[in-house]
Amino acid sequence: GEVHDTAVEVEETPPLAGANVMNIILVAAECAPWSKTGGLGDVAGSLPKALARRGHRVMVVVPRYAEYAEPQYIGVQKKYKVDGQDMEVSYYHTYIDGVDFVFMDAAMFRHMQSDIYGGKRQDILKRMVLFCKAAVEVPWYVPCGGVCYGDGNLVFIANDWHTALLPVYLKAYYRDNGLMSFTRSILVIHNIAHQGRGPLEDFRSVGLPDHYLNLFRLYDPVGGEHFNIFAAGLKTADRVVSVSHGYAWEIKTVEGGWGLHGIINESDWKLQGIVNGIDTEEWNPENDVHLKSDGYTNYSIETLQSGKAQCKAALQKELGLPVREEVAVIGFIGRLDQQKGVDIIAEAIPWMMDQDVQLVMLGTGRQDLEELLRQFEAQHKDKVRGWVGFSVQTAHRITAGSDILLMPSRFEPCGLNQLYAMCYGTVPVVHAVGGLRDTVKPFNPFEETGLGWTFDSADASKLIHSLGSCLLTYREYKESWDGLRRRGMMQDLSWDNAAQKYEEALVAAKYQW
Ligand code: ADP
Repeated sequence: GEVHDTAVEVEETPPLAGANVMNIILVAAECAPWSKTGGLGDVAGSLPKALARRGHRVMVVVPRYAEYAEPQYIGVQKKYKVDGQDMEVSYYHTYIDGVDFVFMDAAMFRHMQSDIYGGKRQDILKRMVLFCKAAVEVPWYVPCGGVCYGDGNLVFIANDWHTALLPVYLKAYYRDNGLMSFTRSILVIHNIAHQGRGPLEDFRSVGLPDHYLNLFRLYDPVGGEHFNIFAAGLKTADRVVSVSHGYAWEIKTVEGGWGLHGIINESDWKLQGIVNGIDTEEWNPENDVHLKSDGYTNYSIETLQSGKAQCKAALQKELGLPVREEVAVIGFIGRLDQQKGVDIIAEAIPWMMDQDVQLVMLGTGRQDLEELLRQFEAQHKDKVRGWVGFSVQTAHRITAGSDILLMPSRFEPCGLNQLYAMCYGTVPVVHAVGGLRDTVKPFNPFEETGLGWTFDSADASKLIHSLGSCLLTYREYKESWDGLRRRGMMQDLSWDNAAQKYEEALVAAKYQW
């Protein structure tokens, strides 16, 4: 059936929250623009604003990893015991676009800005325990604009394993004791591959009575019997959201569930897929700040031809590639790890280098894959740039200056880069998994419909077949190409759509007993 709900154009502003106005606290280990390693940071930075636009009172709670400019110290010193040690937290606050951004300060978070998930397993666990223990109490102790949220009409949105302890603490410390009885929690799965696994002894660190151990106990053939934080969160959350329909389906399978498929199947009744929106202020070719200098230019669907050509030339110039309008520029942006399929691109490189293309890759991550990027460039100086680094500006410029965006991810819960690409008139070629399958409707040359190319297994020959067909269309069928770009740009991929669906999930959680 039709699952491409992001492709639906919204004709009018969605109805506002009305009678269902809620207090919403989103709790996440990272939040853009202050902290970000990937899509989770983007979601934490933008979904709350879209929920606030619908009339809710919305707060984000995130650790304070560094000294950030805007947030002001608001004090509130509290102590929490983690592994028998007293840990002190205090809070910083700023109010932006209708959202209370609350930063939790603690010795353990400081100096972790560039290594949010770094350190020894025990230390990461301690950080997350402290974060979640304190976050559940934020509605009581942290005044925003002078007033605490309290627990009236309150729903928490927790994200991934890092905050999966929050629904558990809400249950164990409060709801099982007749407190915060009407407070609900949603757990969002951005990536099921990381679960907070450890030996059963880890249970001692989370500070719960013995009878909660079973929530965390999981057996799978890979890890044997072990302690699993995500498992406990999935069991206790009132609703579960995954960041696309495709991913909601995949995590129920043995291959996609990474040991949690059993629990997710049992939770199916409370699971729902919602495709992420994108921040249309940051990612909009019409007023993208990164396109205002160095020969780049802002463009819209009306000025697509000339604007994109200019950005492409600027990109080629900036990167020292031959400035040629007719060559197809292929972009890749992402974390360099097994998930993103850089090795699949590597396998396809010999074929690609026989085509009239330029390949521009940006990423950081695994050292061997970073080395691979440098190698590509060294071996094909006139055709390839492999930029190792994390640069938001370069990401924007590659998105604007490329003709094609390549995403051969082995799995991709939602994926944002293909969404950004389409907004910029850049045609995605993707492995049809998770959110990529939800959002990139394949091009149909007979009906002139669709948004890009998809291939159905993560291997080089499939990639080559799809990319080959894409390049042929790029070269020979200019009108089809133009149609692809325009359809991509015409979609409404903003958070307003997604926020409305989140609201449905929140309401469902609210009225669940
Ligand atoms: P994931 O969350 O798995 O990393 P997503 O596609 O959901 O993947 O989100 C990745 C986000 O991080 C996007 O906003 C992307 O542009 C950004 N990003 C990834 N790598 C880099 C990089 N090297 N430089 C700048 N931005 C990057």
